Amino acid sequence: MANNKQSSLLVSKVGIIGAGVSGIAAAKQLRRHNPVVFEASESIGGVWKHCSYRSTRLQTPRCDYEFSDYPWPERDNSSFPSHVEILDYLHAYAKHFDVLKYVKFNSKVVDIRFTGDQGPMVSGEIDDPEGFGLPLTGRTSWEVAVQGNNCDTVQWYAFEYLVVCIGKYGDLPRMPSFPSHGGPDSFNGTVLHSLHYSKLDKEASSDLLKGKKVVIVGYKKSAIDLALECAEANQGPDGQPCTMLRKAVSKFIESYLEWKLPLKKYGLKPDHPFEEDYASCQMAILPEKFFSEADQGRIMFKRTSSRWWFWSGGVEFEDKTKLEADVVVLATGFEGKKKLKSLLPEPFSSLLEDSSGVMPLYRGTIHPLIPNMAFVGYLESVSNLHSAELRCKWLSRLLDNKFKLPRVNKMLEQTREEMEVMKKTTRFYKRHCISTFSINHSDEICEEMGWRSWRKKSWISEILSPYNNQDYVEENKED
Ligand SMILES: Cc1cc2nc3c(=O)[nH]c(=O)nc-3n(C[C@H](O)[C@H](O)[C@H](O)COP(=O)(O)OP(=O)(O)OC[C@H]3O[C@@H](n4cnc5c(N)ncnc54)[C@H](O)[C@@H]3O)c2cc1C
Repeated sequence: MANNKQSSLLVSKVGIIGAGVSGIAAAKQLRRHNPVVFEASESIGGVWKHCSYRSTRLQTPRCDYEFSDYPWPERDNSSFPSHVEILDYLHAYAKHFDVLKYVKFNSKVVDIRFTGDQGPMVSGEIDDPEGFGLPLTGRTSWEVAVQGNNCDTVQWYAFEYLVVCIGKYGDLPRMPSFPSHGGPDSFNGTVLHSLHYSKLDKEASSDLLKGKKVVIVGYKKSAIDLALECAEANQGPDGQPCTMLRKAVSKFIESYLEWKLPLKKYGLKPDHPFEEDYASCQMAILPEKFFSEADQGRIMFKRTSSRWWFWSGGVEFEDKTKLEADVVVLATGFEGKKKLKSLLPEPFSSLLEDSSGVMPLYRGTIHPLIPNMAFVGYLESVSNLHSAELRCKWLSRLLDNKFKLPRVNKMLEQTREEMEVMKKTTRFYKRHCISTFSINHSDEICEEMGWRSWRKKSWISEILSPYNNQDYVEENKED
């Protein structure tokens, strides 16, 4: 919490926090307001810069992870771009539309304060004959405290509207809990989270894994990529196998690929159907060579339905079995909501999640009870870039008064209904993934913006060709 309050600078109507894919998409769409973008690190790109390994690739085809007005250089190339290619693409986009000039690097937002005159609306006590009213009124609503790198002092900035794009992944690792005397301190080897592994260069990461008994805790994309890097570092006679600890593998593409991939052979067959992984954006495309490394014994799997903890020589399970390890890497994910909650002041922070742990966001962007603030990057889909860009276009029109938000009760009702649908589709509904109904979502957004929801040029293509971001280019120049 920043205490030393100075007078706030009013430098722009719109502030944006974070310069990952979402923040850059927001800056581009809101550039007519000359936004100020605060980025904690020294570069744009977010997870693709700070949370990727050498082997990290996009899992979405490149032509789907594409801004509607900026095609990939080789958009028909069917390979999945590496994280470096994604960064190059994002840089080129930001340069092309001249949005880098809005970004203040090494500027971490450490505190946020509400200064608007529209108090928080607590559910059940909502009195909103006019709803939120106009978003940009000339009066500031939010102040943010910004701290530079290696600097104790903070500068406060005031804005009429704040767009929060600090990301669901990265920054704050999720750590497993352990019984007392079973935590990392009991272990004689090295323990690190995948976030810290991603900061190592090639030599350091190879040194860490080479010739070591490595246990990887986790089963999602980060764990899979790490297992492969571990196998690659352990080629040759001195190589040691790397063991992936997993609860229930769900994330590998199952179903029609099952006959091709030896999921059963390795005990990786999911406990729940493929559709549920799709509906919760949890599919992982296996990297090339993953199963050939497993075939050669360099990647092994241990299924744990139970708890585990450390002992001096490795990890131990509830059934008293032990696994020896020199290095344990925790690919256990991130605390995206905690990160967000710690930044927002009360009572807004407590409003962020409802009683079922879901962030109720109207159009995946606006919390119906938090005025003059938008959240981009919290709703997931097959292409998060597409979801972010379309919602930023919608936001831009909202700020330009091209349409008005419905009343608070109506927004709450709509988000509630949406969550009910999600809960029926997947038990992982808290991820807020709209993959199975993203076209419906996009249709509603288009209609609210005053665009046609049928985006194709002909009936035939409407019926036969899949939708992608190119279908959501601006309808006219004025937009
Ligand atoms: C390994 C991995 C693979 C993925 N693969 C895919 C994929 O195949 N397809 C897909 O659609 N999505 C994928 N994703 C999801 C990915 O997170 C999104 O596609 C997208 O890049 C998220 O962008 P973002 O801007 O919302 O968040 P981030 O990339 O996390 O960016 C947030 C930015 O905010 C900054 N920030 C945070 N806190 C502050 C603060 N207090 N003050 C100032 N700045 C702050 C951070 O430094 C960061 O630059 C993947 C994610 C990971 C981690």
